[in-house]
Amino acid sequence: MAIVAVALEVPISRLFDYSADEPLATGQRVSVPFGRRQLVGVVVGHPARSDVPAGQLRPITAALADMPPLPAEWLSFTEFASEYYQQPRGELMMTALPPRLKRATPLRRKPVLAEASGQAWSFVCDRTPTPAQAGAIETMGAALDRNATFLLFGVTGSGKTEVYLHLIARVLEQGRQALVLVPEIHLTPQLQRHFAERFPGARVAVLHSSRAAVERVEGWIGAQSGSAQIVLGTRLAVFTPFARLGLVIVDEEHDASFKQQDGSRYSARDLAVYRAHAAGIPVVLGSATPALETWSNALKGRYNLVTLAERAVPGATMPRIEVVDMRKDAIEHGLTGRLLAAIDTRLARGEQALVFLNRRGYAPVLACGACGWVASCVRCSAHTAVHLKEQRLRCHHCGYESVIPRNCPDCGNVDLHPFGRGTERIEAALAARFPHARLARVDSDSMRRKGEWERTHAEIRDGAINLIVGTQMLAKGHDFPGLTLVGVVNADAALFATDYRAPERLFAQLLQVAGRAGRARLAGEVLVQTRYPEHPLYRAVIAGDFAGFAGSELEERKRAGFSPAVAEALLRAEASSRSAALGFLREAAAHAPDANGRVTLYDPVPMTLSRLAGWERAHLLVQARARGVLQRFLAEWRSRLEAQRTPRGVRWHFDVDPIEF
Ligand code: ADP
Ligand code: ZN
Ligand code: ZN
Repeated sequence: MAIVAVALEVPISRLFDYSADEPLATGQRVSVPFGRRQLVGVVVGHPARSDVPAGQLRPITAALADMPPLPAEWLSFTEFASEYYQQPRGELMMTALPPRLKRATPLRRKPVLAEASGQAWSFVCDRTPTPAQAGAIETMGAALDRNATFLLFGVTGSGKTEVYLHLIARVLEQGRQALVLVPEIHLTPQLQRHFAERFPGARVAVLHSSRAAVERVEGWIGAQSGSAQIVLGTRLAVFTPFARLGLVIVDEEHDASFKQQDGSRYSARDLAVYRAHAAGIPVVLGSATPALETWSNALKGRYNLVTLAERAVPGATMPRIEVVDMRKDAIEHGLTGRLLAAIDTRLARGEQALVFLNRRGYAPVLACGACGWVASCVRCSAHTAVHLKEQRLRCHHCGYESVIPRNCPDCGNVDLHPFGRGTERIEAALAARFPHARLARVDSDSMRRKGEWERTHAEIRDGAINLIVGTQMLAKGHDFPGLTLVGVVNADAALFATDYRAPERLFAQLLQVAGRAGRARLAGEVLVQTRYPEHPLYRAVIAGDFAGFAGSELEERKRAGFSPAVAEALLRAEASSRSAALGFLREAAAHAPDANGRVTLYDPVPMTLSRLAGWERAHLLVQARARGVLQRFLAEWRSRLEAQRTPRGVRWHFDVDPIEF
């Protein structure tokens, strides 16, 4: 008989011992009894003896032999992730597994486990990289046999994709595999197409949460066995096991969606950097607007800065960005005369225009003019947005929906007014103003149906659509050669947000969406509507001056004592009442380890969105100058908190390197 330590998907930081008739490999999936349930877990150790008395040690139910054990590199990587992010190891490991592998029923069709990379593939390179691209490929290509973190800082349209493709070709040539992470699911089809065209014969596995269960498992096992040469996916793909990983690429590395915000909280970008480090391979972080954390690492020389300063298409220049002073221009449905005239010109010339605003629905607020009633979510501390086409009020935080009331529930007044503008409302205004335009709205509501985005994307590319209103779905990563005008509506809303990251996000968003204009030979123009044309942030956007903006933001963060000048974490509590959440945090602070003043604990406060889906949320900010000090402090604090009984109805977790407050 052997004893095995098994990691299970339970919210406590410990392993569970079981007995097995025969020795089991580390990384072996097993099904085990847990209380009255059966769970699938992973063998992570072989303790010589167990704290569980011999007679009470339960045997495993079965060793799942439908795939090889998870590799050692994967086990130590997920262990690191669980320690760094203060998440229970079993919980983190099991979140990383495709759901199908968490079931005890064996995989029906054994996925093909190709030996090494037997696949015949080639690299199609039918155009010459620009000198700047060639330089970048040389610099990074020279480091393929060792660990290095590169920041590929390339302006929008500088041809970062081409650089990635060349590096991947070199890695595949060595018989190794490449992992490419993108921020959002809808960015995968175009890269997938690039890979298919440029690497005929190569096997590409696509991994994201909307993938069918079978495809996810096949992609996963393909990567683990080495038969899939390229893995393309969203943040969860950072946990893919590999046989011979040779390169990691994180495209649009600044994007907030690399951070998982619930369940196991982690940053796929930062984990990619760690994983490459542990594996002794290079990692490339690509962006036109790097995260300030990344930029600061590049300035300090921890990351190697590789710059692409110009657009790749011969003759293409950066778009001209201007602010339109809303106080001085006539406004029709939120759109300035200047912007409307510019759209007119583009349509007449047979070009395309995009109106960008980051707000879905018809209007963010429905209110009663008579008594001041405002439609709100019953589960969140938030207003519900008006979705006119579907005749619904919808909460954008929890998804709660209701019908649009005919009259005010408080005073009976029938005159309810939508306030503010969302994409649906701008779409209606544009349809009325440009009746002959071929108009499309692109946001997560209009693109919900499967295949809708691919179809619209193709229609924009081939010109069947010439006027677009859209959210951030369109702001990042896309290449539309006929698009020459971008109008930005309602950017001011983000200028006065309380979150210290708001300016960074707004700057990145504006530069990214501006970057959609004029990517081919046609010159691009960007008009940002604002009531604050003199604001320094807009000044920097107009100048396209990322370095200048980042420099002053970093100074500001240093002065104010925020990341990346300090290392940060939150202890967050959720409960049915605010006082219970705050009470838990106060109690937790009282039991925090003593760190000799090297760690600062702030007072617990409610979160900005204090109630979400029925939970009252509060948190306590922890800061330290040194990352290691913070890590040791958190580990000790967590074990103390786990040893105590959590009050009924309260749940808590750590959020390390938080981006949401
Ligand atoms: P980025 O991701 O840096 O914003 P892309 O990789 O999307 O830029 O490339 C922008 C455009 O430049 C694309 O249309 C691409 O086909 C084109 N392009 C890239 N490299 C070259 C090159 N060497 N010669 C000509 N066009 C190029
Ligand atoms: Zn009323
Ligand atoms: Zn809600």
